[in-house]
Parts: sequence; structure tokens; C-alpha cells
Amino acid sequence: MFIALGANEGDRELSLLRGVAELGKLPETRITALSGFYDTEPVGPVAQGNFLNAVARLETSLTPNRLLEELQRIETVVFRRRRDISGGPRPMDLDILFYGPLVLRETDLTIPHPRLHERRFVLVPLAEIASGFIHPLLHRSVAELLEGLGTGERVTPI
Ligand code: ATP
Ligand code: CA
Ligand code: CA
Repeated sequence: MFIALGANEGDRELSLLRGVAELGKLPETRITALSGFYDTEPVGPVAQGNFLNAVARLETSLTPNRLLEELQRIETVVFRRRRDISGGPRPMDLDILFYGPLVLRETDLTIPHPRLHERRFVLVPLAEIASGFIHPLLHRSVAELLEGLGTGERVTPI
């Protein structure tokens, strides 16, 4: 499956490296691919600093819900993320993008991530490691989704 990492507080590059290390430490889990790191303009109504974004591919036998729990533990315990302003600055954001071909719609977990196809800051790093992966609901590859977006906010490799 694929995890999006994002940080726009503190030392963003160090945070991403730490985030990857924490993913690698999860039980029954291996990191099998990692994109480059991208400096990206924030999207949405909250004025805030640029993010650094990346995408990792994992092999895991954790269930989607267990994986989400672990990601939230890393955000809260390792990165001391507070959940005050929704959509605001954060030291680490970990989202599940795809879990193989699984489609899941629960109150606290939607897979595929419902907004991934409209976000250059997700699709650009994702395309680097999974351009041919087919979105299980939209039935289009990551490369096709990215082409369909045209230009938008800046996403610059560092
Ligand atoms: P966005 O989802 O638009 O990227 P966000 O990452 O800023 O927004 P958060 O505040 O980090 O949103 O998370 C809000 C909630 O989203 C989490 O508590 C979690 O239960 C839920 N959620 C639903 N689907 C997913 C998913 N695929 N990956 C991670 N969290 C998810
Ligand atoms: Ca997010
Ligand atoms: Ca999130």
C-alpha cells in the first residue's frame, strides 16, 4: 500500500526522514519504495508555510484500521502533533492513499484517500514510484490522473 507523508513545521526534511524511519519500524511491515522529497505550495484556505511531501510504498500484514492507528500514534506521540486548526500547519501528516485494490468507506477511514486524485503534491511523488498503479474506483493509472490535473500549485523536487 501507499502512504503519503507531509510536514510544514519544524525541520521538514528531518521530519520526513524520521517519519520514514518510524514506518520502517512498524510490526509486520517493510518499506519497499520511497519517492523523492518535494517542496509544495499549501492547498486550501489556511495561510501557512510550504510543505515537504513524499510517498512510501509498504508491504504490511497490518489491517487498514490497525495501520491508521499506528500512523496516528506516530503523528501524536513521535511528532507531538496537536489537532487544533483543521487543515492547518502540522509537523507530520500520514495518510493512507491506497491499500492494494481495497475500497473502504468507514466514518474514520476512507480508502482510496478521497482527495488524492485532485492533489499534485500527492500524485507527483506517487507517480515516481507507482505511475502504472490503477485507482480502484476511477480505473485510471496514477500517471493518467496526474496528466488530467494540468498545472496547479508548484511541486518542486528538492
Ligand atoms: P485530508 O484528509 O484532506 O488530507 P488531513 O490529512 O489534514 O486532511 P487529518 O486532520 O490529518 O486530515 O485527519 C482527519 C481524519 O481523517 C483522521 O482522524 C482519520 O480518521 C480520517 N481519515 C479518513 N480516511 C483516511 C485515510 N485514508 N488516511 C488517513 N486518515 C484518514
Ligand atoms: Ca492529509
Ligand atoms: Ca491526515
